[in-house]
Amino acid sequence: MVDYQELGLKVGLEIHQQLDTNKLFCSCPSEMVDEIGKELVRFLRPTASELGEVDKAALMEARKGLHFKYQCPQKSSCLVEMDEEPPQGPDPNAMELALKMAMMVNASVVDEVHFMRKIVIDGSNTSGFQRTGLIATDGELVIDGNRIGISPICLEEDAGRKVESKGKEKTYRLDRLGIPLIELATGPDIKTPEEAKHVAQYIGGLLRATRSVKRGIGTIREDVNISIAEGARVEIKGVQELKMLPTYIENEVERQLMLIEKMRSLKDREAKVSGKVYHLTDLFKECSSKIVKSSLKNGKGVYGIKLKGFNGTLRGEEGKALLGPELAAYAKTAGVGGIFHSDELPAYGIESVECEAVVNELDMEGEDAFVLVVDEEKRAKDALEQVKIRAILAMKGVPEETRNAVEDGSTVFLRPISGGARMYPETDIPPYPINPGYLEGLELPETPDEKIKRFKKEYGLNKQQSGQLFRKGYDLLFEDMMKEGIDPSIASNMLLHTYPELSKEGYEPDDLLDEVVKEVLTRVKNGEFAKEGIPKVLGLILEGNSVDESISKAGLEVVDDHEVRNVIKTIIENRKDFVQERGMGAMGPLMGVVMKEFRGKVDGKKLSGILKEEIEKWCS
Ligand SMILES: [Zn+2]
Repeated sequence: MVDYQELGLKVGLEIHQQLDTNKLFCSCPSEMVDEIGKELVRFLRPTASELGEVDKAALMEARKGLHFKYQCPQKSSCLVEMDEEPPQGPDPNAMELALKMAMMVNASVVDEVHFMRKIVIDGSNTSGFQRTGLIATDGELVIDGNRIGISPICLEEDAGRKVESKGKEKTYRLDRLGIPLIELATGPDIKTPEEAKHVAQYIGGLLRATRSVKRGIGTIREDVNISIAEGARVEIKGVQELKMLPTYIENEVERQLMLIEKMRSLKDREAKVSGKVYHLTDLFKECSSKIVKSSLKNGKGVYGIKLKGFNGTLRGEEGKALLGPELAAYAKTAGVGGIFHSDELPAYGIESVECEAVVNELDMEGEDAFVLVVDEEKRAKDALEQVKIRAILAMKGVPEETRNAVEDGSTVFLRPISGGARMYPETDIPPYPINPGYLEGLELPETPDEKIKRFKKEYGLNKQQSGQLFRKGYDLLFEDMMKEGIDPSIASNMLLHTYPELSKEGYEPDDLLDEVVKEVLTRVKNGEFAKEGIPKVLGLILEGNSVDESISKAGLEVVDDHEVRNVIKTIIENRKDFVQERGMGAMGPLMGVVMKEFRGKVDGKKLSGILKEEIEKWCS
């Protein structure tokens, strides 16, 4: 067990939630579409005058010499998204929602919202910047008894959606550009991986309660800031699955601990990164590696550097990733495919004879390591410069950086953490005054705590059940079901027990549409089949059947009461000695037999009622 308290773990979340209103600065609908529409190509050239002091992150991106292709679907983009017409707005509904959210987290709302331009360097915005407005500051929530600061709260536009990245061309679709996003940042007040999940669930519930936010994968994205006392702040961007939050945090803590440990051993060894880049192509003339052979044929070369004292720090036992991937990620920013290093060689067709030749040429000793890049001279040398930068950082510990979340819970280096102050006033949108009277008149949804209490009281659920319905995000669906007169225990049992069971069997119950699930439970309510048949019916629906087909395929046509009674009478008749001997004590054993006969077809309560009546008749 890792003691996060002792490590001084600090986590802060930045939550971006898409709003279900029109776009923020035009009247296009906030809809993702399959349509590609008209395409246009633009080049991005960040100039010193635009950026003031050109920061390192901007430089890094610019060096790659990318150009951008934009798909402009007619249905959900217009001249505003193409940056050929000034923005309008902001959308009043989006504004209202952001203000409600600010009030719900007890924040101080600004007197006037000023939209600002934030420089965007990855091409995801046609204008080269993202517009963002500060709505409120200094909010706070108490979650699981801990105070979590919430600040700032902003309203901003979503970026274009990346659909393809091919060589030097990145393609974005503009359907997502301009969708309003509410951005809430927590302070670094979260102390454990699990707490991060709870906080995200809680804030997600607040947003959902407004009933004006988008639902489903990709509509809420979390950036996570993580640091431990001896480490540094690392930002992980784009976590889409809430349940994965703890995994990202655990993995990042482990990575920082690894970096700290390597820093110590590099210090002990008096490690050094020398400046010289060696041209090693001649040593690889006879190399049997396919990649090396074809590279040399195309006029590329093999270049290398020595890392004094780095032996064994790049890759550990059983291929455990250590500093190797960190160096490779920096090298890739120069446009190369990757690196080879001495902890992993011989491999990939590079043999020990070549490795020994490199060791000789670089005049290496026992604790030294080498890194090779196979590419055109300029690119290879740029890549090795980056490797050197990262290796020097490794001797200092954990560098501050921004990393991208990968679905499996790992992360990859994106860029050094970018400077905060890159905001310029948005002159096309006038300041938006907030009238205090207007704020007071806003109707706020109930808080999660109030809701959990009310569920308990109104629907007879226990605290755990109502809490789980909320945390798993089923509270709205549950409430809608209650409005349609569905039995609360049947509904909560389905959401909290049947769903996880279906997941275990490989189904994706969260793919079920709310309307379909409501329909199924309404059929149960109307007596079309018994609640015991719900798992089977949901399974069949998830396999692609309609509700009607599923009920009939599950063999759940209702059995009428008369028939049920007859079958029960026969069961008792066949065991009359047993019933005479045990009296009402026969109830339990016989119930098992009856259930076997009718499971899923007849409600268990009804069965036990009839069985009890029939046994009583026998005993009297
Ligand atoms: Zn538009």
